[in-house]
Amino acid sequence: MFEKVLIANRGEIALRVIWACRDLGIKTVAVYSEADRYALHRRFADEDVCIGPAPSSQSYLNIPAIISAAEITGAEAIHPGYGFLSENAHFIEVAESCNLCFVGPSAQTVRMMGDKAQARKVMMEAGVPVLPGSDGPVSDFETAVKVAKKIGMPVIVKASAGGGGRGMRIVRSEDELENAIATAQSEAEIAFGNGEVYIEKYLTNPRHIEVQILGDKFGHAIHLGERECSIQRRHQKIIEEAPSPALTSSQRKTMGDAAVLAAKATNYNNAGTIEFLLDDDGSFYFMEMNTRIQVEHGITELVTGVDLVKWQLMIASGCELTLKQKDIVLQGHAIECRINAEDPQSFRPSPGLIEHFHPPGGPGVRIDSAAYGGYRVPPTYDSMVGKVMVHGGDRQEAVARMRRALSMTVLEGISTSIPLHLKILDDPQFLKGEFSTRFMEDFLNRVSW
Ligand code: ADP
Repeated sequence: MFEKVLIANRGEIALRVIWACRDLGIKTVAVYSEADRYALHRRFADEDVCIGPAPSSQSYLNIPAIISAAEITGAEAIHPGYGFLSENAHFIEVAESCNLCFVGPSAQTVRMMGDKAQARKVMMEAGVPVLPGSDGPVSDFETAVKVAKKIGMPVIVKASAGGGGRGMRIVRSEDELENAIATAQSEAEIAFGNGEVYIEKYLTNPRHIEVQILGDKFGHAIHLGERECSIQRRHQKIIEEAPSPALTSSQRKTMGDAAVLAAKATNYNNAGTIEFLLDDDGSFYFMEMNTRIQVEHGITELVTGVDLVKWQLMIASGCELTLKQKDIVLQGHAIECRINAEDPQSFRPSPGLIEHFHPPGGPGVRIDSAAYGGYRVPPTYDSMVGKVMVHGGDRQEAVARMRRALSMTVLEGISTSIPLHLKILDDPQFLKGEFSTRFMEDFLNRVSW
């Protein structure tokens, strides 16, 4: 096992990695930007290094500064968290060339899955169901029209290098296609420095369901059940739950098996997620693979009892995955609400000073947050200030616990998304578990404040 790990991240996920390291007796090194001088991850790490000014391009994305921090402190491994450098194959190669172990899959796997057009191809060859679409990237309009005609409208034009819901265009008729390709290409060029796009069938009423996997360096791979992530706004997840209220146990097994197939096809080692779209008729299709720990990993931990971050560290240090598929037994139901520093009605960011913070507790409640009373949320990074997770014997108990937890959270000084979550938790469609990725759009039209 490692003796010292550097955490190349901030906020709640940096704390989450510190928790796992402490449980394993590993010393930690925090890196922080000038805007994060008073951040909790700095306080709880054994050592800390300032890596630059506030903008992430100069700090949390600053590869030379992070590698130097690891070298100066004698860390042996780097945990990237999510976002920032977590899916950057070049960073992995640089770290490895400096004899630093990357807590995640190989650079080759990350590069292959980071190119979504390529990922589709790999999955198709492995026998994982993929949405009808183009064979690889599409650069000219004639090919695009041919593909669209073959698969039928509507289609979605997506950036090969896409992420964070950017670089996607839905196309409902042929005359919109040329424009959509041009806009997606230029958006992708600006956002990712790569204008390549591909086309796939657009499902009008799907659920977003993803499967957590773990694989090791010895070729073992298992899945840890699914997470329902259909409650999204602008392709950003808001509430997640495990298991999905939509799956039967046989569908769960089929989807889980497909996820393990995907893991094996990519020689996957470490924690990862296979995202699927589930159509109205029960068929499901591979959408993309996330080669890192995800924000919503905690609800899988609640229903499986498996510490995913601990396993990430153990696998990276060369341990064998001793968990077998039969050891994974889902217990009860878990829900997560992402608490953002934003106005619950307008979604405008609301950074600033948290005057008072009293997190909720009680049976079945877990809080992953780096917020505290007196902490100033910087305007520079993403707006999530924490995650409230609950676990109950069934979905109904989990919902009741979430209502109780959110209504007993004291977070004063800034606006948060808590009032929005409470409205969603009272919504009849949500309570019935009958929703798709269109839920938020319809909900925002019917909600009254
Ligand atoms: P990103 O990596 O940018 O998050 P994804 O490929 O994961 O992009 O897609 C984000 C969201 O966009 C999905 O959760 C889903 O709601 C929607 N989406 C993506 N592809 C399709 C599709 N083919 N049909 C319908 N919705 C889609």
